[in-house]
Formats: sequence, structure tokens, C-alpha cells
Amino acid sequence: MGTMEGLCVLECERCPALVEGRSQIVNGDGPEDADLLFVGEGPGASEDKQGEPFVGRSGAVLDEALRDVGLSRPDVRITNCVRCRPPENRDPTKEELNNCREYLEREVDLVDPELVITLGKVPSEHLLDRSVAVTKEAGDVVDARIADASRRVLISVHPAATLYDRSQAETFEGAIRKAAEIAGAVESDGGQSTLGDY
Ligand code: SF4
Repeated sequence: MGTMEGLCVLECERCPALVEGRSQIVNGDGPEDADLLFVGEGPGASEDKQGEPFVGRSGAVLDEALRDVGLSRPDVRITNCVRCRPPENRDPTKEELNNCREYLEREVDLVDPELVITLGKVPSEHLLDRSVAVTKEAGDVVDARIADASRRVLISVHPAATLYDRSQAETFEGAIRKAAEIAGAVESDGGQSTLGDY
């Protein structure tokens, strides 16, 4: 067991390959009572260097999509399935995901968001515990069991997918708009939305 203080992991050596390559542990960032909790796969090179999630090009895409729906980074919380950068940006292994799950579950439990948004295939499949066709299912709001509680999860493509494919950008922006509607930050076509509508 590593050492946690609040929502932050201060020390942990559960994943030898990640411990060897990381510069630091990258914890979640944002309000501890956020309505929207975004969950990515794991830190990349920029995140590993700066110690914050989603600060590279993907972070810029996410920031822009949030801005377009009247939100900004400080309005939401962002975290990852694993908190240490996998070498050469490989996907985290199942074992690494499971090693870090306790920290993620604690974060979901304490933040208690209205909605968890999974950014890409790895976090979607990890939290829903099934295979997910992310492009097809993006924008869907589904129930998931996380830390012994039922949570509403909105599936999204990863922001990086939008850098190479305009249709993915529309899918991503649509998912962010839906998240903002659910949080009451913007009005849907039919007026202010509530979680119950989904
Ligand atoms: S990824 Fe998570 S479980 Fe693995 S060493 Fe880092 S903090 Fe620990």
C-alpha cells in the first residue's frame, strides 16, 4: 500500500516498470467537490514532467472543448487510471490498472461527482469492466459500479484522437457538451438538463 494524503498518492512502488521510468507521481487536479470528474488513461511525457494531468496537446484540446461549453479547467477535476507514466507511452497493463484502482476509487468516492467522463478506450473499459467501442458509444451515459457505489459514466473518445480525425473532434465536442448539460453548465435544446434525463 502506498501513502495517500487526501486525494493524492505521495508514495507508491506497486508497479516496478512504471516506478523505474517515472519522474514523479501525477495526481488528479481540480476541485475536490467537482461535479465532473474526467478520467484519462495515464500520464504522458508532458504530464510526467510537469506533474499534472492533461497538460500536453491533449490537454489543450480538452481545455478548448471545455471553453466552448462555458467551462474552464478549474471547474472540473481530471485524473488518470494510473498515476505513473508507462514507458514509451505504452498502454498500462491490466495489473498496473488494478494496482492503481484503489486510488482512483478513493478519488471517485471522495469527490462524489455527478458524472464521471472516461476519456478513451482504456479508462472506459477499466471502469465499465467490459469491452467498449469508444467511437460508437461516445456520448452514451451508462451506470457503473465504482467503489461499491453506482455511478453515472459518460463515455468519450480521447482528446488526442481529435488531432488526426475531424469526425472524432465532433464526437469529442458532443460528449463534452453533454457532460456540461448534465452538470447544468449549459442548456440542452430542450432547456436546462438534469442527470435524471439521461
Ligand atoms: S501507477 Fe499507481 S499503483 Fe502503480 S506505482 Fe504509480 S501510483 Fe502506484
